[in-house]
Amino acid sequence: MKKRILTGDRPTGQLHLGHYVGSLKNRISLQKEHEQFVMIADAQALTDNYDHPEKVRKNILEVMLDYLAVGIDPAKTTFFIQSQIPQLFELTFYFLNMVTYNRLKHNPTVKTEMQQKGLEDNVTAGFMIYPVSQAADITLFSGELVPVGADQVPILEQTNEIVRRFNTIYKTDVLKEATPMFSNCPRLMGPDGKSKMSKSLGNALTLDATQSQIEEIVKKMYTDPDHLKVSDPGKVEGNVVFAYLDAFDPDLTRVQDLKAHYQRGGLGDMTIKRHLMQVLETFIAPIRDRRNQLKENPQQALDILHEGTKNALRVGMKKMEEIKEAMHIHYPFGVPS
Ligand code: ATP
Ligand code: MG
Repeated sequence: MKKRILTGDRPTGQLHLGHYVGSLKNRISLQKEHEQFVMIADAQALTDNYDHPEKVRKNILEVMLDYLAVGIDPAKTTFFIQSQIPQLFELTFYFLNMVTYNRLKHNPTVKTEMQQKGLEDNVTAGFMIYPVSQAADITLFSGELVPVGADQVPILEQTNEIVRRFNTIYKTDVLKEATPMFSNCPRLMGPDGKSKMSKSLGNALTLDATQSQIEEIVKKMYTDPDHLKVSDPGKVEGNVVFAYLDAFDPDLTRVQDLKAHYQRGGLGDMTIKRHLMQVLETFIAPIRDRRNQLKENPQQALDILHEGTKNALRVGMKKMEEIKEAMHIHYPFGVPS
């Protein structure tokens, strides 16, 4: 059965390999059978970049180029800009009554991000409530399936809590619960193996990385610190190079053989790193070429986004009317007397 897909990305930088394996890959296949909406979350990006609006604005185009370069098809997918759908903010305000302040403070993803971004002492209310605004994004577009990475699990849980609470309180089924959809690599680690690859952490390999950028990052990748001599047996678990081979090398048998060899001993770190460099270059090269081509005519990408946003606005307005009706705050003939 055809389902509604809703997902998105923050325009805080170009998309990276983590986005590809965590979510974009699923979107490319989901768009064939389902009705997909992809949102560029500029308002959410502003929650921790409110003092750099020009950065967010510039990256809307960058993210759009990434979508088109990897093969998300505008004929099958509606792309839109979050800030241009006022109903999202209207719904967020009502949803804020469905969640306690205490619950917000304990969202594990928000806690980790606050720590990573050094926001702990000065976190704004806007950043604290972004999971509520994300619940509005998903439900206003009736998102049933949400292709996301593992960091989004607590956010999706919170969305579904809001949905259940809302439907119970207003005795309605106007909101749908959302199911996260994970890929076989729901969290691609950064090269140091300490945290996930992320636009904001400066550890990302973008989808248009050059061969020398790929080499530079792979050279620094965390392997097994106890694998000192080539002849030593090495560990594969927690070894970032093997995690990337699992995610990007299409030859699974070869990866298994390399792992076995590494574990036995006799396979040097530089040898597997050179292999990974080649695998990544083969993967990135066609995306990089398409992206460079698309970049020559940015207006084309922006026109697609403009059309998609108009379409999304129609969908959002209609859904908001239904939601307000369920809340008894729908006054079609003007203010209530
Ligand atoms: P920021 O640092 O600004 O938060 P980000 O790199 O975390 O950027 P988002 O825009 O927050 O990217 O995430 C967009 C989508 O990509 C989400 O579904 C998220 O789960 C997924 N994603 C992001 N990074 C990874 C990763 N390293 N591995 C797998 N999925 C990821
Ligand atoms: Mg993020």
